[in-house]
Amino acid sequence: MGVQVIGAGPAGSVAAISALRENHNVSLHEEHSRAGFPLNCSGLVSKEGLESLRGFVDYRSHITNRMRGAVINCAGSQLLIDSGKDIAYLINRASFDEALAQKAEEEGAKVQYNNRISAPFPDGHIIGADGPNSIVASHFNFPKIERFVGVSQAIVRYDGSMPDYVRVFLSAENFPGFFAWLIPQNEEYAEVGAGCVLPGNPNKSLDSLAKELAMDFPKERTHSIIPVAQRERTSFFSQSRNILLVGDAAGQVKSTTGGGVVFGTGCAKIAGRNINTPKQYEREWRATYGKELNTHYRLHKALGALNDDSLRAFASLASTFRIEEFLQRNGNMDSPTKMLGPNLLFHSIRSLVNK
Ligand SMILES: Cc1cc2nc3c(=O)[nH]c(=O)nc-3n(C[C@H](O)[C@H](O)[C@H](O)COP(=O)(O)OP(=O)(O)OC[C@H]3O[C@@H](n4cnc5c(N)ncnc54)[C@H](O)[C@@H]3O)c2cc1C
Repeated sequence: MGVQVIGAGPAGSVAAISALRENHNVSLHEEHSRAGFPLNCSGLVSKEGLESLRGFVDYRSHITNRMRGAVINCAGSQLLIDSGKDIAYLINRASFDEALAQKAEEEGAKVQYNNRISAPFPDGHIIGADGPNSIVASHFNFPKIERFVGVSQAIVRYDGSMPDYVRVFLSAENFPGFFAWLIPQNEEYAEVGAGCVLPGNPNKSLDSLAKELAMDFPKERTHSIIPVAQRERTSFFSQSRNILLVGDAAGQVKSTTGGGVVFGTGCAKIAGRNINTPKQYEREWRATYGKELNTHYRLHKALGALNDDSLRAFASLASTFRIEEFLQRNGNMDSPTKMLGPNLLFHSIRSLVNK
């Protein structure tokens, strides 16, 4: 039986390629005239995560900037994390998505653009890679995603300082439940954005960031939503066909940052290999990524529960325990469990003893 992949975002194209490599007949359907448009992503992806996509896409030709650290503003108190080397890249998501869809086509997928799929769905197994408003998920009654963040973004001219550092702003008052950011694209332009847990108003959050930075932000902004919780079930078996959800459609997103490229494509590889065994897909992606995704979710909830006084106290505590130093050595954008273990405890004890 053939495989119908709905959505040519990164998760859909990687799922299609992975299914092709298992000798399935694959059709990839995209509602827009090309992959990667309209653009709705900052494009900041860990170096390690991009490396995991080798064999699918040569990410190096899509790099537009390199990032070596972050300045985290906790309601006015600042932490600087400098890893001393490139830890993440800014990629051109439009060309990156196009390259992945093209790779799927080269490997044998029948790619159909301008083809918005709705019920009745074409015959065959279905991989729903149709993003946060997944039609596949709602049509087949998958459990709902319980938490979304609304985001508002714009491109601005900035002062050009620290072009290889992401700036993150935490404030319960201004960005409730999430954060705001400034990501330099080069020494002239930066992407600014702000998010808040829905039903908050991300546009108002972006206005707060403009005020904080004493800058004028343009009125032309893009608005989108990011799922920040997983679906409780992401595969479905019926006698006639299997239905698997991947990427944003499944909520396979880091709740702390909203980043979905690394985990979504990781799960998509597993989906393509397990189209005939949906239960195995569910087991395997949860075994591989579930622990990290759950840790991101718990951190997202814990940080979101802090008011601005607590955020400042958190920053001061982080300085006492020299957490910046720890993160410089051990920081990992994708895998919080690699940071939050006995190493962190030993580091904190050592910092206190050496004080
Ligand atoms: C503002 C913003 C900034 C972000 N920044 C980052 C970042 O810096 N790093 C990062 O890792 N992640 C980031 N993300 C998240 C990232 O963009 C998503 O996690 C990622 O795009 C998910 O990939 P996907 O393939 O699952 O879904 P999508 O990229 O959403 O692709 C879904 C595709 O399905 C198509 N489609 C939908 N419905 C249908 C249909 N019925 N028929 C046919 N086609 C359909 C859509 O047109 C789309 O092309 C950001 C998200 C937002 C909103």
